Amino acid sequence: MKIVNSIKELKSYLAEEKRNNKQIGFVPTMGALHDGHLSLVERCVKENDVCVVSVFVNPTQFGPGEDLEAYPRTLEADCILAGKMGADIVFAPAAKEMYPSADMTWVEVTGDITKVLCGRSRPIHFRGVTTVVSKLFNLAQPDRAYFGQKDAQQVQVIKRMVKDLFFNVQLRIMPIVREADGLAKSSRNTYLSQEERTAGLILSKSLRYAEELFKQGERDSSRIAAETAKLIGSEPLSEIDCVEIYELPDLKPVAGDITGSCLLAVAVRFGTTRLIDNVILEVE
Ligand code: AMP
Repeated sequence: MKIVNSIKELKSYLAEEKRNNKQIGFVPTMGALHDGHLSLVERCVKENDVCVVSVFVNPTQFGPGEDLEAYPRTLEADCILAGKMGADIVFAPAAKEMYPSADMTWVEVTGDITKVLCGRSRPIHFRGVTTVVSKLFNLAQPDRAYFGQKDAQQVQVIKRMVKDLFFNVQLRIMPIVREADGLAKSSRNTYLSQEERTAGLILSKSLRYAEELFKQGERDSSRIAAETAKLIGSEPLSEIDCVEIYELPDLKPVAGDITGSCLLAVAVRFGTTRLIDNVILEVE
């Protein structure tokens, strides 16, 4: 497996692969790879001739006071894990390589889709995500790109960007990978104390409860959201950022009953760590 730091080297390697009609698959990550990331890599390896994994802690998607400096950086271990999964290249550029000057071009998806949920507490987050993913797509020119449903709002934002900007890439969305006890795998789980880690289980538990209510016929979106929030609130260490239901794919508010396909997304702080999780509620 090749580790590439420079754009020049990445482009020349991939140009050669393209000349040989190889299909390129791409998995963008911020590193500290876990089984969630590796499920994307595994699928990418299966479906493409070449699998490129990027490991880049993207500064533009972190707001002031967020965890940019503290974010776990484990490049050596990441390369070993990606290589074991069958990845061909890990692209790990320095920030200067991706953002050579302070004056720059932004790619921004506007509307509810980036303003609700995480967009409310992290107002510049999605602009950073879409900007870096555009840059990475332009560099890797992938045939397919792999994202996790764990970041459900990000999935909708990227889908929208790909549609609006006519990116020639197929998006593949992979299910949420969880720990055996239900906690969604996340690079940020390492921030949690043992107590917070246990308290964090309330997220998956409350989403399973909401799913159960829905299966039993409850369709009132406010009631489902309220019941979910109540259960999360029963955990003393939890501090709710949001527990909300939006229509898919544009994340418009649900008026009353759930009819089509909706996203129930939760973001909750445990100490200084903000965890997210979600479930799709779909009327068949
Ligand atoms: P990140 O490194 O957190 O930016 O994540 C890189 C990619 O891995 C994103 O598409 C995430 O949605 C995906 N991902 C992260 N955690 C999980 C998980 N537990 N299950 C599935 N995909 C995940």
